[in-house]
Amino acid sequence: MFLSRRGSLHALEQTRPSTFWSRWLGQDLPSADSVGRICSRMDVSDVRASIHQVYSRLKRMKALEPPVHGLMLAVVDGHETTASRKRCCSGCCQRILHTEAGDVVEYYHRYAVLRLVGRDLSLMLDAEPVRPGEDELAASRRLVERVLDQYPRAFDVVAGDALYANTEWFKFLLSRGKHALAVLKDNRPNLVADARTLFGVLPASLDETAGKRRRRCWDSDRFTSWPDLAPYVRVVRSLETWTIRRQLDKQEEELTSDWMWVTTLPKGMALTPAVVNMGHDRWTIENQGFNELVNRWHADHVYKHHPIAMLVFFLFALLCLNVFIAFYRRNLKPAARKAASMLHVAQLIASELYASIRQGPARAPI
Ligand SMILES: [Zn+2]
Repeated sequence: MFLSRRGSLHALEQTRPSTFWSRWLGQDLPSADSVGRICSRMDVSDVRASIHQVYSRLKRMKALEPPVHGLMLAVVDGHETTASRKRCCSGCCQRILHTEAGDVVEYYHRYAVLRLVGRDLSLMLDAEPVRPGEDELAASRRLVERVLDQYPRAFDVVAGDALYANTEWFKFLLSRGKHALAVLKDNRPNLVADARTLFGVLPASLDETAGKRRRRCWDSDRFTSWPDLAPYVRVVRSLETWTIRRQLDKQEEELTSDWMWVTTLPKGMALTPAVVNMGHDRWTIENQGFNELVNRWHADHVYKHHPIAMLVFFLFALLCLNVFIAFYRRNLKPAARKAASMLHVAQLIASELYASIRQGPARAPI
C-alpha cells in the first residue's frame, strides 16, 4: 500500500482480485478491516526490527557513508500526524483551543522521529509517540534511548530545533557518549544576546562566496552564558546572502538567512563548516522526511484510529520510504534515475497490482 502509494486501506482492498497477491503472499490479501485489526494487535518491535534489518544491510554493503566531514548525524524532530475535535482514542494527546464559540478540546497524535543523515542517503530510523500529558522532549528521550541501544554506533551527533537547546537533553546525550547540536533562538536569551554582541564586533572566521551565495560564519567556544550545562559552550553563526530575480517584475532581490547553533562538538572534531552543514542538514527531516511522507506517501492518513495501529502504519511508512529511497539511489543506475522520477517508479509498482485485474471492481469483502 505504501510502496504503491494507494493512500487508504479501501484503495488497497480494491486490488484484492490481483493475482499479484497470491503470487507474493501465497494467499489472498486480507480485507481492509482485517488489515486494520491485525495492525492494532501487532508487536511494534517487529516493525522496528524490519527497519533495523534494512539499516544493517545497507551498512554491511557500505551504502551508508558519512558526509565529507566524517560525522554521522541523527536528527530528532516532532511530527503531528492528525488532529480532530471529534474522534479520540486512549493514545490521543489533548489541547484546548480558544475559539469564538468558546473553548474546545482538540485531540491529536504526535511522534518524535529520528532520521539518520548520511552523505547521499538518509534513513528514517524510528518513531516514538508523544504520550498524553507529556511533552515532545520526553518522547524524544525515550526514542533516543531505544535507538542508542539498537544502533549504538550509527551516529556521532544528535541535532534538534530550538526546543532541544535544553540542559537535561544536552547532558543526557553527553552521558551516552554523543554530541548535541541545537538551533539557538530566544529560548536561551542570555546566550543569544551574548552571541549577537560578540559576533557583532568580531570579524567573520569564514567568509566565502560560491556562485551568487555569500556565506559568513562566526564561531566561538568561550561563551559562559549557559552555566547549567558547562563553564564554556560553543556557538556558531552562519549569515548567508544571495540574490534572486523576482518573476513578477524581473527585479533582483537580496535574501538573507541567519542561523545560530549551540553545540557540544569541540573544534578539533568539527570545524566551522562541518557544524554549519550539520545545522542545515537538520532541515532534511522536514523537507525530505515529513513532507515526502505526508505529500507522497499518505503517512498522516488515519488508517485505523487506534494507538498501536497508527504507530504501526507510521513505522511501515518509514520502512517503505527507506527501502524505496535505497532502491532508487543505490540500485538504479544514474541514467535510469534521470529517465524515471520517484513518482514514476511508484506508479510502475502500482501498475503491477492492477495489471492482472481483469474483471471490473472488486467484490465487497465477506
Ligand atoms: Zn487517537
